[in-house]
Formats: sequence, C-alpha cells, structure tokens
Amino acid sequence: MSGTYLGMPSFPVAAREAVNNPTLRANLRHATHTIRAKRAVAVAELADWALLREAGKQIKDRTLRHLDTLLVELEEKVTAAGGVVHWAADAEEANRIVTELVVATGEREVVKVKSMATQEIGLNEALEAAGIAAYETDLAELIVQLGQDRPSHILVPAIHRNRGEIRDIFATTMGEWGRPAPDDLTDSPAALAEAARLHLREKFLRAKVGISGANFMVAETGTLVVLESEGNGRMCLTLPETLISVVGIEKVIPSWRDLEVFLQTLPRSSTAERMNPYTSTWTGTTDSDGPKAFHLVLLDNGRTNTLADEVGRQALRCIRCSACLNVCPVYERAGGHAYGSVYPGPIGAILSPQLRGTQSDIDASLPYASSLCGACYEVCPVAIDIPEVLVHLREQVAEKGGKGHRLEKTAMKAAGWILNHPAALGAGERLASKTRKLHPHKVPGASAWTDSRDLPALPEQPFRDWWKKNRT
Ligand code: SF4
Repeated sequence: MSGTYLGMPSFPVAAREAVNNPTLRANLRHATHTIRAKRAVAVAELADWALLREAGKQIKDRTLRHLDTLLVELEEKVTAAGGVVHWAADAEEANRIVTELVVATGEREVVKVKSMATQEIGLNEALEAAGIAAYETDLAELIVQLGQDRPSHILVPAIHRNRGEIRDIFATTMGEWGRPAPDDLTDSPAALAEAARLHLREKFLRAKVGISGANFMVAETGTLVVLESEGNGRMCLTLPETLISVVGIEKVIPSWRDLEVFLQTLPRSSTAERMNPYTSTWTGTTDSDGPKAFHLVLLDNGRTNTLADEVGRQALRCIRCSACLNVCPVYERAGGHAYGSVYPGPIGAILSPQLRGTQSDIDASLPYASSLCGACYEVCPVAIDIPEVLVHLREQVAEKGGKGHRLEKTAMKAAGWILNHPAALGAGERLASKTRKLHPHKVPGASAWTDSRDLPALPEQPFRDWWKKNRT
C-alpha cells in the first residue's frame, strides 16, 4: 500500500484532535445520522434482504477461493475485447505503469473518476511528480482536491466539510485549477453544484486521458462496472481517447448473474437509493464509440497476503458501500482522517493493517480503534464480521510485543500463575482485603485505561472466606 499516509500519528493521538473540534463533530454527526436513517428505510423495503446479504457473502467467498482462475479468465476476455491488461504487485509498480501509459499518449493532464484504488497507491502524487496534472471530477473529491485536503469517508470524501466551508474553498481556489467560481457564489447546494459543473465541463471536453477505478469486474465477459450518482464518472469513461482503469484484484466477480445481487445491495447500503442513478459498463474498445485505447491495471498491493489469512480475508469481500462508517460510534466522533488511510472507519481498521502490515504506529493502533459494539457487522451487506477480524488483528499486534503489550503480557503471566495456585490466591485476597484502605484508585502506568474507569472497591472479606464460613 502507498506510503502517502504513513508517518501519521497513531489513532488515539490523531483522534484527539478530531474529538476536540466541535465543527467537525457536528458535520460528522449530522451527515452520518442522516445517511444511516435513510439506509435503514431503504433496506427495510426488501423482504429478502437477509437472503441477498447471504448471497453477496457467498459470491464473494467463492470468488476469493477461485481468484487465480477468475483473474486469468478476466484477462483473456479483456484482451479479446481489445483491452490491455497490466499486473501491478504494489503501489510503486502500479504508479509506474500508469505514468508510462499517460506519458506515451503525449498528454500532460488527465481526468479522474473517484477511485479508492488510485488514492490507495497515491497516484495523483506520482503523476504530479512526472509533470502530469490529475483532475478529480467527483464533486466531493473535487472539494477535497481544491481544499488541499484528504478524503475522510469512502463515499462522501468531504463529509467533514459543511456548505459554508465548501463555498469558501470554491471561491478562493477554483480559479487556480481552471474556470473560477462565479463572484456571487452562495452556499446553496444548487449554486455549488452549478459552479462545479461548469468548472468540470471545461476539463471533460479537453481531456484526452481518463483514469478510473471500478466497483466490479465481470470475468465471463471482461466487463468493468462503475456505479455512481452524479454522471461525472460516465463523462470520464466515455469522452477521453484513452481510458486507464486501476482496480484491486478482489473486485472481480464470476458472472453477470452475480452482479445482480450487488446492484441491489450496494446502492441501498451506500446512498439509500433503490438503484444508483448511473451504472456504466465497458468491455475493451469499439471502433465507433468511447475510448480508442483501454488499459486495465490489476492491483495486488497487499491483497494476496490478506487472502492468505483465513480470518482476515473476509475484509476482501468489501464492496465499499460505507454503511459501516455511518453506524460506527468511534468514526462518528474521531472522523476519517484519524485512521491515516483512504479506508477509514471499521473497514479501514481491518483492511489497512492487513494491506500495509502492522509495523507502523498507526497500523498497529487501528485494530484497537473500535468499541467492538458490532453495529458495523449488522449493517454490512456482505456480512463481514469486522469485530472478529479486529480481535484477530489485536492478537497479532499483541504477539509482536510493544510497550503496552509487554506490560499486558507480564500482567497476564502473573495472573496465570496465581490463578493456578489457589493457596497463594487466597493469601493474596486476604492481604488485599486487609489493606483495602491503602489502595490507589488508579493503577499506576495504566492511566489510558483507568482515567475514565474506577477500579472496583475490594470487599472487607474475600468471597472464598465468606463461602467457607457460611456455606460449608
Ligand atoms: S465492510 Fe461492509 S459495510 Fe463496510 S464498506 Fe465494506 S461492504 Fe460496506
């Protein structure tokens, strides 16, 4: 995975800033509560939701079991349809391939449809280093780009911004990137959308190269699928002469029949729509329509390692609907930036440490960025048991050691010994009861845990003594 966000502080440090920002918390609370309420209504409309959820889970699991053959089938079909397939083992290789493809066209600017895979690998930065300007065309991504900001939500990357902030960003920076915002720009949604539309139209009509991701890749025909709400993606996919799609290898599904399930569950889970407004599909190239050259970059970047983990691999089922973010009490308060990755919230807490490994402070802290309440599992349309993976990853982090974990390990070892020696345990309990008035209310060295929790008061008499006296 790209190092774009590495070097960030660990989750508790980064989250502290967010929880002390009242504007951010109000923006997040308003947005997540609105989307989660709408999603619940949209899901309740379907009597067979539980069956669809199970079907989605099984399709994805079957796909992951046969990923090797499905990807080869996809490559054959894309190639037969006139596309070119490139395999990228990591972010560096993917960035190099895409940069070379753009340079070969002789162009110095590209338009992009919102793509998490390209954010994951830090493609915009790599293109910029090669002298190529990449213009984001999704409205929320445009806000993030113009504000020199980072995305904080899978579906609504500018969720941390309110209308007033967006107006100010448009008014001050749009002119530096292309067509400026009108002088009398207000913060009404219609005015902001119109300013973005005019700004982007200029780019769509000029760009010769488009870069996209994809929600799904159908192996049986070599077809890529993008679901979106604004239509900007379709402009990126159809107007340029060259289209380069960068897609994670886990996005393949076997057949169109399988797609049917996700076309029902994804829109309802993400935007609470019965059907998303734009579904674009493309298969290679055709002479009379669309791009004349199509390149598919299949991205691994840690996915094969994730696949090798029997518990953790379920994270690869994710269809990036963002429902888990919108119900997560931790995300709602900490915001997306604290997760230090393009994948924030509960899915980010299990996906990023698996794709990147847990060597850095931020990645080692992510499995702990949860209250384990289970709300994320309840809403996930492909039934990813996020709490199970969080606990599994915590085990791995704890195994590796580290400051807090060394203390924890020593305490557990001592507890194990004393629980195995009943006489010593009894003597210890009697001593603790006798000295109870002298005990501190906080455990020295464990303030992160005890700052917000009181130690339980010790009884005057240990339970086993009371039992011996009264019941035996
Ligand atoms: S983990 Fe599940 S709920 Fe969260 S984004 Fe992925 S598919 Fe959606």
